Amino acid sequence: MAQVILKNLSKVYGGKTPVEAVKDCSIEIKDKEFVVLVGPSGCGKTTTLRMIAGLEEISGGEIIIDGQVVNHIPPKDRDIDMVFQNYALYPHMSVYENMAFGLKIRKIPRKEIDARVHEAARILGIEDLLKRKPKALSGGQRQRVAVGRAIVRQPKVFLFDEPLSNLDAKLRVQMRAEISALHEKLQATMIYVTHDQIEALTMADRIVVMKDGEVQQVGTPMELYNNPENMFVAGFLGTPPMNFMAVFVEYENGSYYLNEGSFRLKANMLHDSILSPYAGKKIIMGLRPEDFTFCMKGEVDRTINGTVSVVEPLGSETNVYVSTPTNTITGKISPTAIVHKGETISLLPTMAKAKFFDMDTGKAIF
Ligand code: ATP
Repeated sequence: MAQVILKNLSKVYGGKTPVEAVKDCSIEIKDKEFVVLVGPSGCGKTTTLRMIAGLEEISGGEIIIDGQVVNHIPPKDRDIDMVFQNYALYPHMSVYENMAFGLKIRKIPRKEIDARVHEAARILGIEDLLKRKPKALSGGQRQRVAVGRAIVRQPKVFLFDEPLSNLDAKLRVQMRAEISALHEKLQATMIYVTHDQIEALTMADRIVVMKDGEVQQVGTPMELYNNPENMFVAGFLGTPPMNFMAVFVEYENGSYYLNEGSFRLKANMLHDSILSPYAGKKIIMGLRPEDFTFCMKGEVDRTINGTVSVVEPLGSETNVYVSTPTNTITGKISPTAIVHKGETISLLPTMAKAKFFDMDTGKAIF
């Protein structure tokens, strides 16, 4: 098993208008860790993964696997295996042959190939599919075969490039849990790319959030969710996303207030020292939808009052979109609260949970 270090890694795709796909990316992935690279389309996740696999030349920096710089080591000698988004199975081969192929070309003895293929098939629950061709498999079964093909090679590092994106929502949830269980069982280093923040939050030991080729923040799911370092990370993780409001910081009779224009909220005392340098200035306040409770009656300096524009009952909770003259705020409220579109309601925020960001840089104010 292996540690993977990316040191100031960069990638520029040449051509008439060069694209800086990955910029100065430094990450240390520990042995046996499950790290998820997440970010919007085009942020450089796949390019990073392909550079680790050796499928893409690097433009700068170093990739170190188990203490060895692998920049110039060809993919087949890196002891890494990659599961692709489209699974890349050979259509004319059976499941068994697909899984055995990589071992055959490495001249592994037949008996050992057979043992490894059957062991991987057992782990993945596909023993009864070994004779079938890929076209006779469902999407989820094909996905398992692609994972099985990686398992049999017993690589030091597993790379996954959006392996669940071709599956329907229900199967995605099931395979998410299966891949997490597989990680537990194999105790291998895994690097997983996705644009789906729920996959990142549910599967990762640590998440790397990327944007425009740059690493925004690295941390455990809860670290990133509770202490985002900037507005991008705060807004990217969480559904519905965090509410952002531009507010003036006011200081009155020993307390701080956050004045948005159409509402004003008294800050929690916890935040006094954070807010004091910003008195009289505008900042961004962030409140997650779950940081509100539904309130029958508006209260001065404590609630956000507005008109319900959308109600989304989800069974275990209800999302309400509340329009104020200046903003639309999303709140997650109890499913027992009966609210209707067009009604005037009040949302009571838990101000201790509020996050604050610099107006110009978007960086969190600590
Ligand atoms: P997605 O989630 O859509 O797969 P991504 O985050 O994986 O996106 P990359 O595929 O790594 O992003 O692409 C990063 C940037 O590099 C994008 O702007 C993309 O257009 C560009 N890019 C990727 N491959 C090439 C290439 N072969 N030639 C030129 N530019 C490329």
